[in-house]
Amino acid sequence: MSQEKFTFQAEVSRLLDIVAHSLYSHKEIFLRELISNASDACDKLRYLSLTQADLGPGEGGFRIELTADAKKKTLSIADNGIGMNRDDLVETLGTIARSGTQAFLNGLSGDSRKDVDLIGRFGVGFYSSFMVAERVEVVTRKAGEAAGWLWVSDGLGEFTIEEAVRDTAGTTVTLFLRKDDKEYLDHNRLKRIVKTYSDHIGIPILLKGGKEGEDETLNTASALWTRPAKEVTAEQYKEFYHHVAHAFDEPWMTLHGRAEGVLSYTHLLFVPTAKPFDLFDPERKPKVKLYVNRVFITEDCEGLLPPYLRFLRGIVDSEDLSLNISREMLQKDPKLAKIKAGLVKKVLGELKKKAEAAPEDYAAFWESFGPVLKEGLYEDFENRDKLLPLARFRHTGAEGAISLETYVEAMKEGQEAIFYITGQDADQLARSPQLEGFRKKGVDVLLLADPVDEFWIPAIANFRDKPFQSVTRGGVDLGKVAGTEPATEEKKEESAPAENLADLLVALKDALGSAVKDVRISERLTDSAVCLVAAEDGLDMHLERILKQHKRLDDLSPRVLEINPRHALIRRLAIQAKTAGPALADAAHLLLDQARILEGEPVPDPQAFARRLAAAMEKGLD
Ligand code: ADP
Ligand code: MG
Repeated sequence: MSQEKFTFQAEVSRLLDIVAHSLYSHKEIFLRELISNASDACDKLRYLSLTQADLGPGEGGFRIELTADAKKKTLSIADNGIGMNRDDLVETLGTIARSGTQAFLNGLSGDSRKDVDLIGRFGVGFYSSFMVAERVEVVTRKAGEAAGWLWVSDGLGEFTIEEAVRDTAGTTVTLFLRKDDKEYLDHNRLKRIVKTYSDHIGIPILLKGGKEGEDETLNTASALWTRPAKEVTAEQYKEFYHHVAHAFDEPWMTLHGRAEGVLSYTHLLFVPTAKPFDLFDPERKPKVKLYVNRVFITEDCEGLLPPYLRFLRGIVDSEDLSLNISREMLQKDPKLAKIKAGLVKKVLGELKKKAEAAPEDYAAFWESFGPVLKEGLYEDFENRDKLLPLARFRHTGAEGAISLETYVEAMKEGQEAIFYITGQDADQLARSPQLEGFRKKGVDVLLLADPVDEFWIPAIANFRDKPFQSVTRGGVDLGKVAGTEPATEEKKEESAPAENLADLLVALKDALGSAVKDVRISERLTDSAVCLVAAEDGLDMHLERILKQHKRLDDLSPRVLEINPRHALIRRLAIQAKTAGPALADAAHLLLDQARILEGEPVPDPQAFARRLAAAMEKGLD
């Protein structure tokens, strides 16, 4: 068959241009990426050989071979893994848009040092070959197929594919090194790179014609997690984390251990420092790789960890799961559920220790992953009691975040509920009018600004027998809470006379009709004239806004308008309530619209609002 010519997809071309011309620091990582691909390919074939006995690595087992040819100035990386056929080549090495390519381009910062790290993270590792090579040849043959293929490119926009001969399944990537990159022919250089970046790879990496012309194994070649924890250095853990997670930050926490008993398994898990970019993907799949007896099975095993621990990276390896069932069946295996329970216990236990031993460090973790962990509060009933104490909340009482335990301990005399307010942004929430009365009395309020907060609060209902209560709802009773500030110290505004207030309530209700659920005298306002609250039996206002945004709710329900009887405006309105006539109706609508704006809700009739406001201003200027 003759040669076919292809054009790289535009994005890939751009990527290649950047790789070849802009990324100079840490060029050596090309080798890490190619070895990582070779190791993945061996893992894939190992898995396939479980069910297809005729496939496998052949004599000598899986291995990766490096050959440096000083004469031809080539470095090749060969594996006896799964290989690729023509279609695989077209799809993976050149044309089809892979989501990672665009994400990589978007993520580029222009800082060569940082950008080089992105290569591995976004799964565009293969292209890093062009950092050191002016031409790359891939000879490959897919396991179980007879034909071999040659893929060639100079990374300048085009590549070709033609049939070729390869005796066994696997892939050989040959790099024709650039003039300035001949150092990658040097055996000592290669040894150091492999030791630094790829020592944890579980299969041997051989250097052809290494020591005294003999093949030399460059890595330890036992899976890192099978080694005793005390023999593994922090540096090795970090490299392994970078490899499994496609990440380049420091692991925030490393958990390496083994469970023995009814079920035995080893885990090597990492909590990242930086938020992975796909943390809030709707799929919410766990990202920990599952191995059975060192054989890689799958990297998105849904039954292995709950979705709220999807920020974890790493591996779990068990001897007790069956190798001979499909991935789908495996996910339903009751043994897997037991492993999951054990892992959750372990992880939550370690987080608890960290929270106690290093609160500041823990606060940084919570900042990144708290919103995910909180999903467990309504999804994992069994572990709720372990999850609740791990949660941290911003609050009105002080800077920083506190635990529920701390909140409850500091509750005021007479305070019977844990008060909270929900919204989109904690800083903005802190300025809500509904909080005024709480501030005055020194009652702390939790500021909940993650969307999940609306969901776990109703599921939990209370903590240490104290119910959660939203400050943006009717029925809040601050009367029993002892005030901290003596009332005499400040100039306390007089309340409007009770009978005038009664008149005003009637007049406002009359004017606003079905636009409000009720109009009431407020206990929670001290400075603002008005605020909105939800009815006692209604949904929280922020929750309604979320539901409406997601089209799960057609309209916001009418709110309760609360008025501050001590506010100068309200006092004047109260006195005129009986006589004001249509002017009072305008004032009523202005008050309601003002409350809506404070709440971040749209004003339903902006024209009417503008007209009334203009009229009121005009009167004010008389
Ligand atoms: P990633 O490894 O993150 O998928 P790469 O750019 O490193 O991204 O590789 C792209 C794809 O090319 C791989 O997913 C794989 O399908 C294929 N590939 C690369 N190298 C090999 C190899 N040695 N053997 C088999 N397939 C390979
Ligand atoms: Mg790769």
